Amino acid sequence: MERVDNFGAGPAALPLEVLQLAQQELLSYRHQGLSILEMSHRDALFDEIHQGAVSAFRRLMNVSSEYEVLFLQGGASLQFAAIPMNFLTKETVGAYVLTGSWSEKALAEASTVGKTRVVCSTAEGHYRSIPEISDVVAQAEDAYVHLTTNNTIFGTQWKLLPENVGKPLIADASSDILSRPLPVDNFHLVYAGAQKNLGPSGLTVVVIRRDWLASANDSLPVMLRYATHVKHDSRYNTPPTFAVYLLKLVLEWTEKIGGVAEMELRSRAKSDAIYSVMDEFPNIYEGHAVTSARSTMNVTFRFSSEELTQRFLEGASERHFVGLAGHRSVGGCRASLYNAVPLESAYRLADYMRSFARSHSR
Ligand SMILES: *Cc1c(COP(=O)(O)O)cnc(C)c1O
Repeated sequence: MERVDNFGAGPAALPLEVLQLAQQELLSYRHQGLSILEMSHRDALFDEIHQGAVSAFRRLMNVSSEYEVLFLQGGASLQFAAIPMNFLTKETVGAYVLTGSWSEKALAEASTVGKTRVVCSTAEGHYRSIPEISDVVAQAEDAYVHLTTNNTIFGTQWKLLPENVGKPLIADASSDILSRPLPVDNFHLVYAGAQKNLGPSGLTVVVIRRDWLASANDSLPVMLRYATHVKHDSRYNTPPTFAVYLLKLVLEWTEKIGGVAEMELRSRAKSDAIYSVMDEFPNIYEGHAVTSARSTMNVTFRFSSEELTQRFLEGASERHFVGLAGHRSVGGCRASLYNAVPLESAYRLADYMRSFARSHSR
């Protein structure tokens, strides 16, 4: 079976080696005669998998002992609600930096819980850019300031992140976690749905500062309290065990090939390959992001007509490139270049884009 070049936005490509290892171990994990899919989450073997994933994540992200690492369900989207439910009070305000659809959704969810405000926003320019760091200013009544590190749909990314805004900073890092260094110590909470850079869907990683937990709302339903999941080491109820196992394999694969530093080099190389073709043929490829805000994870571009877009996508599909249609709110195309997308996939796409541009340039 030939594998395709997968540029899907999520669930996205997984490392081939990880899939092969999971396949090998599927029927009988460590010669135990049963699959991880069939094993209790209280089993010592699963505990080892869980702890292995937590440790690998801590090493890769340099997470200090002041932070808890949780594996939760409900996607990044449940975090949009859980954060204000735990940390907003009647007196305080949830402050949101708007850089795309996901930050809008985080804000909308918080608005169902309590008071919110927009710190700054690039909505007016249809989210082509990222705010200046100096625009991220907290106010006395803010409970926290929330931002999205990489905007999956619009293809923009913070190059430098705000550091000390005087209030707890929260980052949704779903679509660029582990693709570059993220200074966890500057944040009170970092979260990421796993299905882009970490593993399969159905799992969300949350990193939370331990001393902040004491201030959380303790009258919530137990499943919605971070404290519950800390106390039970992410196994208050049945966790998505197979997803945790795959997460562990992806983290170990990431470490083996050189960790975050290597991922950052590869992400740059992959995205540079595509952006350089776009810059070479600006009459064919209109990038959505301004140059200074270009994402290394999601490259977004448009054509001058729907017909050209279709022709491009047809040629792509003949070459076994999948997942290139853009999000409906932006149109055009999007190439997602997550950690598990091989360099060769990006180079093949760049070659195709160059030859397509040459044959359609006047
Ligand atoms: C994909 C994505 C989400 C949504 O994640 P779910 O796990 O589907 O809830 C949220 N934020 C960002 C930045 C994303 O890329």
